[in-house]
Amino acid sequence: MNDRNTSDLLIQVALHAEALPIIRLLSLHPIGRLDSNLPSELWQGSVHGHRITIVTHGRDCEFDCDRIGTESATIVAFLALRMMRPKLFINAGTCGGFATQGAAIGDIYMPTRFLFHDQRVALPKFDAFAVADRTTSDFPAIRAAANAKHGTCSTGSSLDTTVHEIAFFAAESVTCKDMEAAAIVRVAVDLETPFAALKVVTDLVDHRQAVQESFQRNLEFATDRLAHAVDHAARVFSAA
Ligand code: SAH
Repeated sequence: MNDRNTSDLLIQVALHAEALPIIRLLSLHPIGRLDSNLPSELWQGSVHGHRITIVTHGRDCEFDCDRIGTESATIVAFLALRMMRPKLFINAGTCGGFATQGAAIGDIYMPTRFLFHDQRVALPKFDAFAVADRTTSDFPAIRAAANAKHGTCSTGSSLDTTVHEIAFFAAESVTCKDMEAAAIVRVAVDLETPFAALKVVTDLVDHRQAVQESFQRNLEFATDRLAHAVDHAARVFSAA
C-alpha cells in the first residue's frame, strides 16, 4: 500500500485559515490534492509517533473562496476516509456558540450529538432523516486533554440564523452551530469510522453583534486555541 495513503488520525477542516495553525503547530507538510478533480488539499506528518493527516476542503477557483459547507464536507469526508482508513476521524473547526448555554469566544467543544437545523421535510420518516439526530461515541481521554465541553452541534448551510432556527436551537439545547459536522458524521457512520468533533467558538449566535464581524475578529485567537486542542487530542490518541 502507498504510505501516503494511510493515516492513524485523519482531521477534516473546512477552511484553510482554520487548518493553518494546526499545520504549523504539528509541523505537517503538504502532500498535494486529495483528488485531481477537487481543490481539497492534504497535509501529513508524524506526530507523537503516529501518522496524522489534515484534509481541507480547498479553494473554489470560480468563486475565489474556500469551499465551506455540507456538499464539500460530504465528498471530502468520503474520499479521504476511503483513502486513509484512519483509526479516528476528527472534524476540527470553528462554530457559533450560545451565550445562553454558557459559551464564550474561544471555548472548545467536543459535541457528541449532531443535527441539521435547516432541512425541513414534513413527511413521515423523511422528517427524521432530514434532521438526522445522531449521537456519537465519547472519548473521555481526548475530551479531558483538549479541555473540551460537552454539547450538541447543529449544521446548516447559512451563517445567519432564522427565527425558526433560533427556536430549534433552544428546543434542542444546541451549543455549536456550524456548516459541516452533521454531514461529516453521516459519512463516518456509513464508513464505520470512530468520529470526534472539536469545535472552537468564534462568534455568539445569540449576541447582538453581527456573526460575520465577530468571526473575522476572533478567527486567529480561536483557531490558535483549536490547534492546541487538536495537539493535545493527538497526544492522548497516540498514547491510547
Ligand atoms: N466568512 C468566513 C468564512 C465563512 S464562516 C471568512 O471570511 O473566512 C463559516 C465557517 O465557519 C463554516 O465552515 C462554519 O462551519 C464555521 N462557522 C463559524 N461560526 C459559524 C456560525 N455562527 N454559523 C455557521 N457556521 C459557522
